[in-house]
Amino acid sequence: MSDMTKPRTLRSAADLVAAGLLDPAAEAAVAEVAARYAIAVTPAVAGLIGDREDPIGRQYIPDAAELLTLPDEIADPTADGPFSPVKGVVRRYPDRALLKPLLACPVYCRFCFRREVVGPDGGLLTEAELEAAIAWFAATPEVREVILTGGDPLMLSARRLGWLVGRLSAIPHLEVLRIHTRVPVADPGRVTPELVAALETEKSFFLCVHANHAREFSDKSAVALRLLSRAGVALLGQSVLLRGVNDSAAALEGLFRAMLRHGVKPYYLHQLDLAPGTARFRVSEAEGLRLVGALRGKLSGLGIPAYVKETPAGGGKVPVGGG
Ligand code: SF4
Repeated sequence: MSDMTKPRTLRSAADLVAAGLLDPAAEAAVAEVAARYAIAVTPAVAGLIGDREDPIGRQYIPDAAELLTLPDEIADPTADGPFSPVKGVVRRYPDRALLKPLLACPVYCRFCFRREVVGPDGGLLTEAELEAAIAWFAATPEVREVILTGGDPLMLSARRLGWLVGRLSAIPHLEVLRIHTRVPVADPGRVTPELVAALETEKSFFLCVHANHAREFSDKSAVALRLLSRAGVALLGQSVLLRGVNDSAAALEGLFRAMLRHGVKPYYLHQLDLAPGTARFRVSEAEGLRLVGALRGKLSGLGIPAYVKETPAGGGKVPVGGG
């Protein structure tokens, strides 16, 4: 296939209209949204979208409602900023810290809690900044776990990722490496043997895959996940409870069963953070507790994640309902 005919990632309102995923009447409003929050819909994801209001379309096709910020919505709902000892690092707990090597993602989720900062041009740490971040981990022996997030760390080239995993693995007191990613479901073609080889480490290693609906586990995604699990990568799942995407017991059961079928242990179900312009996705905690409660007895304990929320001002995760 030539570069001209190869399907490409849709990155604008006009692209979405041309692909038949957006009504031309909505193009101007969505272009206004795009000026504020990035758009990306990979060919793999576009192929799963029936219409903009189905469980996949809702996650990725912008809506004019995103322009409306409610009084309780905040730009940095997890309060990464105040907890950053050095650029790219966030430490909220004594024993673990985040490292954000870049802020680009394969897709841009309309409910993203870091939507004010993620984007295609955003946040690639320079060589010197990455060295400073690695030096911070090396000089902080209480931190035993590094969580690579962003953005999506699997957007790095295999060479760069392998270098970073190698450098972090060489820090003696780091016991666990974890990567949070959307790539295996949103852009599964990026999961190549080279990328999988880049994740090799002697440390304990977990890949935490973000998915919110069973249909995200496409045939291509299954191939990517199999490649990872056959290489010995332990797979965890994280999801966000979202209105119109997975706000029924049947949708959640389908999602967690799909994860289990693909070797992914459901780890966290997140209450939606109060990021700007995300009101259309909100599900109340009371409803969330009822939905998660309805899964007990239907799914084995292996299939039920912890239902958690962020506490305000960067206090960290706590179980919803105090459970
Ligand atoms: S993949 Fe994660 S960081 Fe990127 S837009 Fe989606 S929720 Fe945000």
